[in-house]
Amino acid sequence: MIQDSLTDPVTILLAYVLVLWYTALILWYILLQKQRAGYKNGNKAQSTENESDLEPPALIVIAHPDDECMFFAPTIISLRKQGRPVHILCLSTGNYNGLGAIRSRELEASCKILGVRQTDCEALDDKRFPDGPKKWNAQEVASVVAHYIKENGIRIVITFDSGGVSEHPNHVSCYDGVRHLADTGKLDTNIKAYSLQSISLWRKYSGCLDVIVSSTSGHSFLAVGSPSDVWTAQTAMNEHTSQLVWFRKLYIVFSRYMYFNTLDRINA
Ligand SMILES: [Zn+2]
Repeated sequence: MIQDSLTDPVTILLAYVLVLWYTALILWYILLQKQRAGYKNGNKAQSTENESDLEPPALIVIAHPDDECMFFAPTIISLRKQGRPVHILCLSTGNYNGLGAIRSRELEASCKILGVRQTDCEALDDKRFPDGPKKWNAQEVASVVAHYIKENGIRIVITFDSGGVSEHPNHVSCYDGVRHLADTGKLDTNIKAYSLQSISLWRKYSGCLDVIVSSTSGHSFLAVGSPSDVWTAQTAMNEHTSQLVWFRKLYIVFSRYMYFNTLDRINA
């Protein structure tokens, strides 16, 4: 009887799932302890680079209100826990459905929960960057980002990568703009630029289980959210009431971007 149950496919599958969950939870715990020790020692979270590679203030360049909490929350919270000022530059108001003014206010409320000052959180209402399924001009994005960097003494710039997480053309345009700055030598050598890794669909919705892949895949920086950080990110997303359709409610539970961020360096 016992031997039969041990060879039962359902039992074997359950055993695999249990092992996977325990491995993920243990790994998540270990990484959190390591990150907390880093905060205490004044180090830079799970950076694989020199300490000086991540210094305040940091700028997150996003395309739409809600990108900050749907994709970048672990990074923002991690930087804030290090006592670093974080600025959010949102290149559109998210006005595709005529809700730009509402979404701009929602962004401010979300930023407040994430620990970003209202004065450091800006949504641009700029005709060059309409919310929609078209790419923006990289040079124009670069020009706006460069101006913001100069005006605010930014030392770290973080944005999407060439996959834009969801391949949204506006997200990709943020990357193209920062990439353009790096490629044309318009980023000072003391400014570090990073991009948020896009990942496969099955990883994207694997929640905390993705820690197994995130912690072992190549990256320059890993931000690990604690359960309370995940709650903070979800609370911030709840401020985007105009966007809280059913699938986004599922997203904030299952998306790995609410738990972990892996970043790559854009400039050398
Ligand atoms: Zn977006």
